[in-house]
Amino acid sequence: MEQYRMLVDGVWRDASGKATFDSVNPFTSQPWARVPAASEQDIDDAVQAARRAFETGPWAASTPLQRAALLRRLGDLIGDNADELARVQVLENGRLVREVGGRAKSLANHAYFFAGVAESPTGETLAGSVPNMQIFTVREPIGVVAAITPWNSPLTLLLWKLCPALAAGNTVVIKPSEITPVSTLVLARLLCEAGFPDGVVNVVTGAGDAGAALAAHPGVDKIAFTGSTAVGKKIAGIAAERLARVSLELGGKSPNIVFPDADLSSAVNGVVGGVFAATGQLCMAGSRVLVHTDIYDEFCDALVARTERIRIGDPMDPATEMGTMACRAQYDKVLHYIDVAKQDGARLATGGDRPDDPALARGLFIRPTVFTHVDNRMRIAREEVFGPVAVVIRFSDEDEAVAIANDTRFGLAAGVWTKDLARAHRMVRRLRAGTVWVNNYRRTNHVAPFGGFKESGIGRENGFHAIEEYTELKTVWIDTGSRIT
Ligand code: NAD
Repeated sequence: MEQYRMLVDGVWRDASGKATFDSVNPFTSQPWARVPAASEQDIDDAVQAARRAFETGPWAASTPLQRAALLRRLGDLIGDNADELARVQVLENGRLVREVGGRAKSLANHAYFFAGVAESPTGETLAGSVPNMQIFTVREPIGVVAAITPWNSPLTLLLWKLCPALAAGNTVVIKPSEITPVSTLVLARLLCEAGFPDGVVNVVTGAGDAGAALAAHPGVDKIAFTGSTAVGKKIAGIAAERLARVSLELGGKSPNIVFPDADLSSAVNGVVGGVFAATGQLCMAGSRVLVHTDIYDEFCDALVARTERIRIGDPMDPATEMGTMACRAQYDKVLHYIDVAKQDGARLATGGDRPDDPALARGLFIRPTVFTHVDNRMRIAREEVFGPVAVVIRFSDEDEAVAIANDTRFGLAAGVWTKDLARAHRMVRRLRAGTVWVNNYRRTNHVAPFGGFKESGIGRENGFHAIEEYTELKTVWIDTGSRIT
């Protein structure tokens, strides 16, 4: 067993009550690492340390240039330690080494991009608006940020918060998912190595109760949360009590819409990648596949054939295309949804159970699953499964496609496959989602804002807009002439 400690005020420590929990490898179903289970005292210590670092010490006086230099060093260290960051992510959540192994460059790019943003703070000058007054705005850090993250992409979703928070001059207390605490602790080592002062970034490990204690702590000024819509709503409620700032990246049930004029083989590949990457454990998974009636049968046949060619196996093997579910609870939940879909009358076209390969017997595997003849009112089309399950829904024209696509409480993302430029533009404007991909799916980048409409969240991560989530806007009035009498 590997042993890890938490980071509070620059010191690596056990939980004050010495409690621990284990991270379990979903490929072997064996525990592989032990981490502290933070007490309320530990969480309070971490918030106090972040508060001190925000108000006094070198960070409080840091210049944008100094913060940018630290972020660049962090980016370099992420690149230098790519293999270790990939190894622990594969062990803790079963993500494929071929996926997370190639991610280091894009993780480092977040640090480099926000280094540039740190160096370019902007405000507005409202010159001439009011006589004898110079009015301008400045952006200032909010204070102590609580970053609460999920297990599916633990480092990516953490860096989406950490980089803009630090660029703006905030301090941070991170509570990673209890399923994937180790990758965050390895990243915290790199933050120390990069030279971020003590207390600027703290990590407390624990389950949902630790997240709840952190969110409720009066010393936290802003909560940045990625996770389920159910927990996101609780956090919004806690934040509302003291009007703490909050940004939420939540669940989805995203439509991926295929028109008859689409390049069909491209669309099939895009749909497969959109829903089965990361074993379907992606917030933006294109889990509702909407297909025009003229190509419905042909498309379903091609989708099933392509799905059956996906290579399932050991996530550490670079040839593997789909790995395990990340944890037992998620595995059970997905199998439950497969039963619900069958009971509700959806037609199981492929998958729906474990693979028979004895080499995979100990892992939390579920074969990639396609249901056809699905009605958008079925539970399998309305609730987030967060697993390798695609449902194919038929539509007959553009209006119906829009109506079905938008008939959901979520609004994270959508995909459109068509060669008709005018239709693509019409669809982009009519779909109620934070991201719309046309003839591609599941792309994200540090420059491109990401976030949800409706119950998929509040706020945007990535891109220049992200800095707004981590700053307060201050307006300054300077009297340039008159005397007050
Ligand atoms: P989750 O909501 O169960 O947990 C997320 C985090 O919140 C974990 O760290 C957990 O310990 C903590 N937590 C649990 N209960 C809490 C409480 N009452 N108060 C404070 N913190 C609490 O989500 P998960 O199962 O880890 O992640 C899967 C979910 O995340 C899916 O719904 C998925 O769609 C969503 N997600 C969204 C995005 C996005 O960008 N929109 C990205 C990835 C995942």
